[in-house]
Amino acid sequence: MCVASLLIDGELVAGAGATLAVENPFTTETIAAVGGASPEQVEAAVGAGRRAWHGWAGTPAGERCELLHEVARRLRAGADELARTMTAEGGKPLIENRDELEWTAAAFDYYAEIGRDHAGRVIPPIENTQLAMVVKDPLGVVGCIVPWNYPLLLLAWKVAPALAAGNCVVAKPSELTPLSTLALAPAFEHLPAGVMNIVAGAGEVGARIASHPEVDCVAFTGSVATGKKVAEACLPRMARMNLEMGGKDAFIVCADVAPQLEVAARGGAWAAFLNAGQVCTSAERFYVAEEVYDDYVAAFVDHTRTLVLGDPFEAATDVGPMVSEPQRAKVVAQLEAAATAGAEVLTGGDRGGQQRGHFLSPAVVTGAAPDSALLTEETFGPVAPIVPVASLEEAIALANGTEFGLGANVYTADLESAVRCMRELRAGTVWINDPLTDNDAGPFGGFKQSGLGRELGREGLEAFQETKHVHMESRIERKEWWYPYREYGAG
Ligand code: NAD
Repeated sequence: MCVASLLIDGELVAGAGATLAVENPFTTETIAAVGGASPEQVEAAVGAGRRAWHGWAGTPAGERCELLHEVARRLRAGADELARTMTAEGGKPLIENRDELEWTAAAFDYYAEIGRDHAGRVIPPIENTQLAMVVKDPLGVVGCIVPWNYPLLLLAWKVAPALAAGNCVVAKPSELTPLSTLALAPAFEHLPAGVMNIVAGAGEVGARIASHPEVDCVAFTGSVATGKKVAEACLPRMARMNLEMGGKDAFIVCADVAPQLEVAARGGAWAAFLNAGQVCTSAERFYVAEEVYDDYVAAFVDHTRTLVLGDPFEAATDVGPMVSEPQRAKVVAQLEAAATAGAEVLTGGDRGGQQRGHFLSPAVVTGAAPDSALLTEETFGPVAPIVPVASLEEAIALANGTEFGLGANVYTADLESAVRCMRELRAGTVWINDPLTDNDAGPFGGFKQSGLGRELGREGLEAFQETKHVHMESRIERKEWWYPYREYGAG
């Protein structure tokens, strides 16, 4: 089925480090035992990247572009099997994994093109005999560390721009979902050995990559707590870092949406329950104008009750299991704490009748206390707390009232409200009337503790480039402002 070897210096090798038991979250059976990377194998992967770097950085961008388009072609050719592997190890419905594969391939196509177009610019020189340029250099070896929820997409958002900019990569998937990432090796077979390396392992392997003196940049997606550890590991050597961390996205529904409340409720449910709520930009707090609050809650609950839980391989399944029991338990604890403090769970919050698997049925909650973890901390599960607000001003203040600032959603047909939200929401992405839609050209990342830097767009390429100013004089001549100053007299 899938290749479960590490890719180091162009060779497939068995991991010699701690073994990872990979569980199918639907059947709860162990489906693979993967050898993680030993310290020596991390060393070998970083060393291979370092050795390959000069050749890769010196490869004309147009040639790198063709090689990256070929990665995209290979990903599409293997998409069906890869999507199945992702479904088996992550529990996300197959339809969503197929979609992820297409976005993953598209990221390689996108960066293949802008990578050959975006290598600096010419700026006006000080004198007409001069040429001044801004040159974008690659950084060197980039460590790419990703979570389990969108294992291939989040990897592509790092690997594609890093390679396009002329860097070499050491990639590490989450310990929960290593199979689909290791199965990517054939998609990179045509690249020079050492340009792309894939190692598996848990946190200690990530830490080893992040603190490695030969790793020039770490691109990380994961929790805030781990992101801060990565930052600490990078700081002593000032390694570049791009950090995509947690979120607590708000979803605002304005009173003017009354005629289309059903649409806003369906959009809200999708934004809250997609991938069982395990999306960094899941809608986790709903602020709904009090004029439409009761109707909105009713429409939301009605729609939520129609969602089908079950086998993620089944076409009819809307919501699969959560990725693991600890992840489920964390969400249940938040839900129970909110209920103990007076919140009402209107629907969901149980196993949804499933006999096995890490299921949590999509929950709609009202009356949660403003300081409850459910409204202040990341949930990362299928829970939608809904709160009435008296004004747009209150909704924006509440939306901005956490330490996070990843994304925010708004439903309104009123231009003034839309522009106000666009300007005042402190979030890296503001979606108006179209929740959670990605755009390869649109930079993605967080304000505040949700992250540092951006993925996607030109910013996502620049994250893997160092900026160099080149000042060139075409004539070799002495400048009049050099020493000795006495030649020019005082004053
Ligand atoms: P996590 O932080 O536990 O792990 C993420 C990755 O970091 C894994 O590969 C893990 O092995 C590795 N890691 C663990 N300890 C490390 C260390 N000390 N040094 C280096 N690497 C280490 O996160 P998770 O549970 O896999 O994923 C869920 C989290 O990811 C959520 O908080 C979610 O919001 C966040 N996330 C953010 C985005 C975004 O784009 N901002 C996208 C998806 C998920």
